[in-house]
Amino acid sequence: MPKKDYYEILGVNRDASDEDIKKAYRKLAMKHHPDRNPDNPKAEEHFKEAKEAYEVLSDGQKRSAYDQYGHQAFEAGGMGGGSPFGAGAGGFDFSDIFGDIFGGGRGRSNVHRGADLRYNLEITLEQAARGTETQIRVPTMAECETCKGSGAKPGTSPTTCTTCSGHGQVRMQQGFFSIQQTCPRCHGSGKAIASPCSVCHGAGRIKKHKTLAVKIPVGVDNDDRIRLSGEGEAGVNGGPTGDLYVVIHITPHPVFQRDHNDLHCEMPISFATAALGGEIEIPTLDGSARIKIPQETQSGKIFRLRGKGIKGVRSSTHGDLHCHVVVETPINLTERQKELLREFETINEKDSAHHNPRAKSWMDKVKEFFG
Ligand SMILES: [Zn+2]
Ligand SMILES: [Zn+2]
Repeated sequence: MPKKDYYEILGVNRDASDEDIKKAYRKLAMKHHPDRNPDNPKAEEHFKEAKEAYEVLSDGQKRSAYDQYGHQAFEAGGMGGGSPFGAGAGGFDFSDIFGDIFGGGRGRSNVHRGADLRYNLEITLEQAARGTETQIRVPTMAECETCKGSGAKPGTSPTTCTTCSGHGQVRMQQGFFSIQQTCPRCHGSGKAIASPCSVCHGAGRIKKHKTLAVKIPVGVDNDDRIRLSGEGEAGVNGGPTGDLYVVIHITPHPVFQRDHNDLHCEMPISFATAALGGEIEIPTLDGSARIKIPQETQSGKIFRLRGKGIKGVRSSTHGDLHCHVVVETPINLTERQKELLREFETINEKDSAHHNPRAKSWMDKVKEFFG
């Protein structure tokens, strides 16, 4: 039975606009939808017909193919003819028209770029701040030297895969359309190897380790990536090599925490130094520095040392070092120390509002709250 014309099915003219086609299809789909017509094979038939017509006419490329060749445009090129490319029977090559739609026409390239590799590199904060040069050992897929990448035993050559005639792709009829798939026999290489290379077992590539020198620029931070162009995996069938990405991980530092280009550190000082003032020595990434602690310094105060942070990769200046004061409560006190503190507290209590204004104001608020 000859197939009905797609335009007739949708009830539109041959010059109908995309909008008209969409409207017509929607109307028919609503009318004949199986959910609305249970157990009505006729409606289902109409629904399928309309869907098929719409799928072709709503796609510019398919529509122009249909206008030019009619239903034949979608019937040629199946698996039936024997040749997977279907060019035989009607002398009509389906893939010429639909090449783009299905991701490449006949003779599609089997050449692939090698995979990019990722290497996680642990460095210290000091190395990140100053920059460094290191060597890494990376596993990679390299071209097999024995067979020069062909995968065939030296002295023999690969032959053309008979399933796909060397194209690497085969056409399969799937319902209404024919689709292109990677050849199941040669996995897309288009070649058959009768006697595989004994080193790479026919793959043409082997796993190898290589040692690379990596230059770590000054100021790198966590998750920064350094690209080593062309140091990834070898390509397939002569394709270009992938890249290697070295991803930076900075090991936690015992003293400093990094926040972009700034550094932070905790600075514990004694109760007496906090009260009386003094000078203490603190470490920085380039040697030590002295900080003057003024008298009456409280916990939580931050001393900022300008330019003692890190110079970022994309920055021209150094960040700062922030020292966070923590007043340390003394522990393991001797009897004598306790005695002195008790004496101290007795004097202190006589005018606590003056000596401990924060404690006093807090107590006042608490009383107000409960009162
Ligand atoms: Zn094949
Ligand atoms: Zn080999």
